[in-house]
Amino acid sequence: MPAISNKIINRLTLYHCLLKYTFKEQRSISSFEIAELLDLDDSLVRKDIALCGVLGRKKGGYPINELQQAIEQKLGFAERKEVFIIGAGNLGTALVNYADFKDYGIDVLALFDNDSAKIGQEAGGKKILALDKLQNLIAKISIKNIILTVPPQAAQEVTDYAVKCGVQFIWNFTPVILKTPKAVTVYNENIVSSFLQMHNFI
Ligand code: NAD
Repeated sequence: MPAISNKIINRLTLYHCLLKYTFKEQRSISSFEIAELLDLDDSLVRKDIALCGVLGRKKGGYPINELQQAIEQKLGFAERKEVFIIGAGNLGTALVNYADFKDYGIDVLALFDNDSAKIGQEAGGKKILALDKLQNLIAKISIKNIILTVPPQAAQEVTDYAVKCGVQFIWNFTPVILKTPKAVTVYNENIVSSFLQMHNFI
């Protein structure tokens, strides 16, 4: 069982963004301020913050620095999470260039592709390797996480191969719902779903 639910992880990540960007000039913040901006119940915000072990002061609210660090600790930002990207196209290279990944402990070690024109090049300062190098590399450095950014038609085949190589966690940006063994965890990412939620609201 995971230590905290995905919903709580989601909310804590949003609180962290608020502290880091929106309220960075303030020294403290109240649960009401957070709740109002995120359209949440402030008692829920207080409960989430209590999980991080930070106590609010009656009048002063929560100290921003302390709360930010407590959320980072709860969500394991400092733990290094090594990952490979498979598919060094538009999205794969955009992700490897995302500078904030490192703040969350996400460390892209290399990209993989099957396009001979890309193999041997670099993206975001990381090597693009031939996909058939994956097995050896996983055996050597035991990486269990991949970000999948290949075209839909290649998604299942690449997944089968990656699983055979020992991959256990797949952050799947393709629109394909992947078939994997039970021991493998797939997180499906779909920005279109966010747009549809917004559109539905409109
Ligand atoms: P792209 O064509 O620019 O890149 C795909 C890369 O995968 C290319 O470099 C290609 O050479 C490589 N590739 C193809 N077959 C391969 C194989 N068998 N083994 C290894 N590499 C292979 O595509 P893109 O625009 O970067 O999109 C990538 C994926 O992400 C697509 O599935 C797309 O639908 C999806 N996508 C998802 C979202 C989202 O929100 N989840 C947003 C945009 C795109």
